[in-house]
Amino acid sequence: MHALDEYRFNRLTWDEMNDAIEAQKVVLLPTGSTEQHGHHLPLDVDVFLAESVCLEAGKRAPDRILVLPPISYGLNRHHIDFPGTIHIEPDVYIEYLVNITKSVAYHGFEKILIVNGHGSNTPTNDIAARRTVLETRSLCASVNYFALAVDAFSSVRDTEVMAHADEFETSLYLALAPERVRMAKAVEDNDVAGDYVSSDSIARYPVRFSDYWGRWTETGVHGDPTTATAEKGRVILEASVNGIVNLVDEWRAWPVAERRDQHRMPIQKDISWR
Ligand SMILES: [Zn+2]
Repeated sequence: MHALDEYRFNRLTWDEMNDAIEAQKVVLLPTGSTEQHGHHLPLDVDVFLAESVCLEAGKRAPDRILVLPPISYGLNRHHIDFPGTIHIEPDVYIEYLVNITKSVAYHGFEKILIVNGHGSNTPTNDIAARRTVLETRSLCASVNYFALAVDAFSSVRDTEVMAHADEFETSLYLALAPERVRMAKAVEDNDVAGDYVSSDSIARYPVRFSDYWGRWTETGVHGDPTTATAEKGRVILEASVNGIVNLVDEWRAWPVAERRDQHRMPIQKDISWR
């Protein structure tokens, strides 16, 4: 059946889509950004890497995965001082995402996964996934693909910082499309860091804060891309793709349980939150 061999959502016809719905394939929505990534990488890094991981996962599990066309824009105003960066306001972005996930749910897919490559989309993707769960009968979760590769990356990394246009992203790009990486222009750069606050708060900082990048960097890099290699990138790719396939299998088996109302007195069922 073609719907079980094709993993790209929009390559199916509408009647093949009926087969995909019947098979309850998990629908992946890749999200990224169009934003500066230093002197050495193109603006498409986050969306290209997230989509590539999803497509490779789809290739390996075409009977369980359908990959939607990606969202190439996200929350990016903090990068706007660098030419080419495109910014979408959070409320517009969330509404757009939820319109997509609701459409997918409408057709009968029960499991949706938002797969993100742009750190600043994390809170908005989380809200979009939660809203999809609350406003449909389908289940939707969000994941940053790079979170699935942190352990594997630890075994090959030479630098401490994992942030932006760094050893991690540059290595993965080198593994996928080396001809688009200007390694000769790669430079190390760092954010402004205190004990509690850093200008580009990464995971080890308890306080979340994101300053305009035009205030603290002239390169647009956070991390050290000079140590990146395609070999490291292949380790990252393998871990990310395996992570997505394993996650899809768990997510596909996850029950959509019946809700049980625990009130003793009548509830006001007609109240709507939107
Ligand atoms: Zn990035």
